[in-house]
Amino acid sequence: MNKIVFNQKTVILRTDYNVPILDGKITSSARIDASLKTIHHILHHKASRIIIISHLGRPRTIDPQLSLKPVKKYLQSILSKDIYFANLEDYILNSEKISQRIVMLENIRYYPEETQELPTTPNFRKRLTSLGDVFVNDAFGCSHRNHSSIVGIRCPERCCGFLIRKEVKFLQDIFEGEGVVTLILGGSKVSDKIKLISNLIPKVDHILIGGGMAFTFLKYFGYQIGSSLFDEDGFKIIPEIIENARIHQTEIVLPTDFMCNNNFSNTGDVICTDLSTGIPENYMGLDIGKATIKNFSTYLQKSDKIIWNGPVGVFEFDNFANGSQEIMKLLERHDGITVIGGGDTSACCEQFGNKDKITHLSTGGGASLEMLEGKKLPGLKFEFSKSW
Ligand code: AMP
Repeated sequence: MNKIVFNQKTVILRTDYNVPILDGKITSSARIDASLKTIHHILHHKASRIIIISHLGRPRTIDPQLSLKPVKKYLQSILSKDIYFANLEDYILNSEKISQRIVMLENIRYYPEETQELPTTPNFRKRLTSLGDVFVNDAFGCSHRNHSSIVGIRCPERCCGFLIRKEVKFLQDIFEGEGVVTLILGGSKVSDKIKLISNLIPKVDHILIGGGMAFTFLKYFGYQIGSSLFDEDGFKIIPEIIENARIHQTEIVLPTDFMCNNNFSNTGDVICTDLSTGIPENYMGLDIGKATIKNFSTYLQKSDKIIWNGPVGVFEFDNFANGSQEIMKLLERHDGITVIGGGDTSACCEQFGNKDKITHLSTGGGASLEMLEGKKLPGLKFEFSKSW
């Protein structure tokens, strides 16, 4: 097997340090922490320098509010190593003079060429490529993008880092092999997740559906859903989903009771209803109820692998967070493989639970969704076979 040689090389490392920052303070360092293993590995294998490239937010030009300086400060403190911080031009001008082994470039999205595609960006991409000898992509959260620093760095040697390898293992390879697999699906619209559902129906044994999307299914089966979220486009594809599930003997499990409100907010006339009466007109289902949680838990207990994408209620409102919170507890206690993918679900997990008790909490929102949809991500086309 080909082995990547880092010894005495300058390594360009693309990471996803697009972390939440409030008043200059990082409020979740999960994405930075997830890159440490790769950084340590490259340093341990005697690279002469690592040049870290990342973006933060979506600036179109220089925006001091979206500087990566707080990230540099945090990384410097956990690595206990001095990091040279500069924008691309400054680094190119001073690269011979600086002594630090680790360099972090300022937000790469300050350059409009970062998000532009070929043929407008060859010079920018060549400039990035000329920075080093080896390119390591470990920016899972951006790997569904055709951006310059993801797909345009064409060093002779390229590979993916540990984080990407872990994401692939748990969001793609998990469906191979033995064991009962259960998918918990929530979120708002069926139509947003149709590709994911079509891709996963043949690969899983059960799909437990909660969240806003459950009501479109329930209406299809003739239940009263009041003013709950209804997705007209999604409604049209329900027969196809049901038929596909029948062919692959995949069981779709819907909620049977709900916490409802007479308006879309945390307070109002909060009631609990079930399918025998349906949801009254002018009330909307905002969370799954106790009987549904109990039923879902029986499926989770008999599963070897569980993948959760999409909150099962409006977890942002305290009164409708219980379902997602209970699912989180069930996953924490489960002794099989538990995987959480998707931006909202990860946020929900960080809010309610102990993420260390989950086998894998994906660092990518859009990227994890596209991977679960079965797409080949542009940033993952590099050599995987290369050993470290
Ligand atoms: P998605 O991005 O499709 O995963 O949707 C996530 C959003 O779905 C979250 O912001 C939840 O508040 C929302 N959601 C979950 N359950 C419901 C519900 N019953 N009605 C409306 N929105 C919901």
